[in-house]
Amino acid sequence: MIDIKSLNLQEMTQLLRDMGEPAFRGKQVYTWLHKGVTSFEEMSNLSKPLRAKLQEQCYITVPTVARKQCSAQDGTVKYLWRLGDGNCIETVLMRYHHGNTVCISSQVGCRMGCAFCASTIAGKVRDLTASEILDQVMFTQLDSGLPISNIVLMGIGEPLDNLQNVLKFLELVNSPDGLNIGMRHISLSTCGVVPKIDELAALNLQLTLSVSLHAPDSETRSRIMPVNKAYDVEELFAACHRYFQKTGRRISFEYAMIDGVNDREQDAKELIRLLKGLQAHVNMIPLNHVEESPLKPSSRQAVQRFQKLLEDAGIPATVRRTLGGDIDASCGQLRRKYTKEKNG
Ligand code: SAH
Repeated sequence: MIDIKSLNLQEMTQLLRDMGEPAFRGKQVYTWLHKGVTSFEEMSNLSKPLRAKLQEQCYITVPTVARKQCSAQDGTVKYLWRLGDGNCIETVLMRYHHGNTVCISSQVGCRMGCAFCASTIAGKVRDLTASEILDQVMFTQLDSGLPISNIVLMGIGEPLDNLQNVLKFLELVNSPDGLNIGMRHISLSTCGVVPKIDELAALNLQLTLSVSLHAPDSETRSRIMPVNKAYDVEELFAACHRYFQKTGRRISFEYAMIDGVNDREQDAKELIRLLKGLQAHVNMIPLNHVEESPLKPSSRQAVQRFQKLLEDAGIPATVRRTLGGDIDASCGQLRRKYTKEKNG
């Protein structure tokens, strides 16, 4: 069976041609799918026999809402989607001033093992298909009735560990006959899979690369992010320099503030040294406490001191506003809670 929504327009056109149909049928089917139809029956401008033929050879992915939580504080909505095979993933809709933004997942679970992250506790189950990544944007828009203008690949999973499907998704979501969301409105976050950063750089996409740094020295970073044992801070920064040279795009660094681990003055100084010569932006995130983890968020004073040290050194640093604090709206916490409840 063909996962029809994962096909790009060219592949769709070929599929329909192989069925003995004229080329324009490909675009018709493509357009229906990207409007979010859930069955071939709804494709009213296709003949009955053609719809039956499509039904025989292809399937349409349709996620259903397993749980939905709306923040009373700030309008953030968190979706737990149930996929065709029963697995669940999360999507968060955030209402920023610059537009409605969805934070989407790229895998069911994650195998990267970061010490502070809820998504990785039970490991990786599987990669998401391009269609399943796209569905999160499409069905969040349909369900909420809110137009989505920005996407961040910062949900469950490591996007560069599923690069092929993520690239296909980017092509689909960016296409003029689809949702048509511009690359400059998309951010991709990685824990630092160096060879894949180079692969991405070679494509010279206009998206924003976010690197989850969380510590400026390899000793600390290896303790909280196992990926650092494969690609250490030095290798990661060499890759960031290559990425910037190739794409000319400023890199954004994510830095979760963890009490006593990475929030000291010496950490800020080390970070400043590291960022020399790189056009960068530091996004400080107060750590979201995960039940299973001993790591605690930094105090407000520590966050402010850290930010000031960076700014005084000429490095743009923002403290991310936490949204949806009342609805477990971060980092795989809803899925984790849900599976724990189900398993008793
Ligand atoms: N795997 C990718 C994208 C998903 S995580 C990556 O590592 O970048 C998105 C961001 O949330 C990453 O910066 C991640 O390190 C951060 N994060 C995960 N758990 C967190 C927590 N408990 N508190 C704060 N940030 C967290």
